[in-house]
Amino acid sequence: MALEIPPSPRWPRDARAACAFTFDLDAETLWMARGVHEPVTLSQGRFGPVEALPRILALLRANEIRASFFIPAWVAEHHPDAVRAIADGGHEIGCHGDEHERVSELPAEREEAILVRSLEVLTRIGGKRPLGYRAPAWQLSAETLGLLGRHGFDYSSNMMDRLSPYLHEPAGGRALVELPVSWVLDDAPYFMFTGQRAMQPPGPVLQGWLTEFEGITEARGMTNFTFHPQIIGRPSRLACLRELIDHVRHTPRIWIASLGEISAHYRATVAAR
Ligand SMILES: [Zn+2]
Repeated sequence: MALEIPPSPRWPRDARAACAFTFDLDAETLWMARGVHEPVTLSQGRFGPVEALPRILALLRANEIRASFFIPAWVAEHHPDAVRAIADGGHEIGCHGDEHERVSELPAEREEAILVRSLEVLTRIGGKRPLGYRAPAWQLSAETLGLLGRHGFDYSSNMMDRLSPYLHEPAGGRALVELPVSWVLDDAPYFMFTGQRAMQPPGPVLQGWLTEFEGITEARGMTNFTFHPQIIGRPSRLACLRELIDHVRHTPRIWIASLGEISAHYRATVAAR
């Protein structure tokens, strides 16, 4: 018997596929989590909220795109104006740890304490309770999904096994929607410079993203771009993001939405089945 290609969801407004622009505002914690506290390295992180974010928000506004931003609690407390600007722009804010710690390496009580704290901080500064969770470095513990269910989350955006959303088995009293990601659609593997390997030129990376987007669209799935303001916000790469957005917007029958909107839509289609 032939293996069947997994089904893809029905998208709103006759769209063939969905596309989300998501940003992890890690700022200094991207480096702190690696044990780095040297001032120049931390300043690379600060480039995100200070220089890159206003330009990214202007680009999103000009293109009428609602994006999803995942923000560590530490970053929200140290850059509250950035969080308020994101919320004022109509974008979604989701949880992303406290100091970008790898939860896969933490005891369950510590993981839960971080989750509770990040919900409190982002709700207080962003003005809305987050519905989505993306783990720092996309690493989950065995407890993560259950904790998310118990604390009322609607979706996880961490797994790399599908091109389309799906429902997890119920955990913590709730079946979470999964909105899959991929390192292929992330800016860090190409552009993040740690002194270990060369940075990639933006042109070929843009070409790769466009081809991936076309392929996922053909499969009627969702393209879940994951960017980091401190990385994608350098002028040469911002030009690449501008071109990418332009291409997606001019592709017929694409539903561009935040992850919260995609999760809500997917849950509704499953319930209607
Ligand atoms: Zn991150």
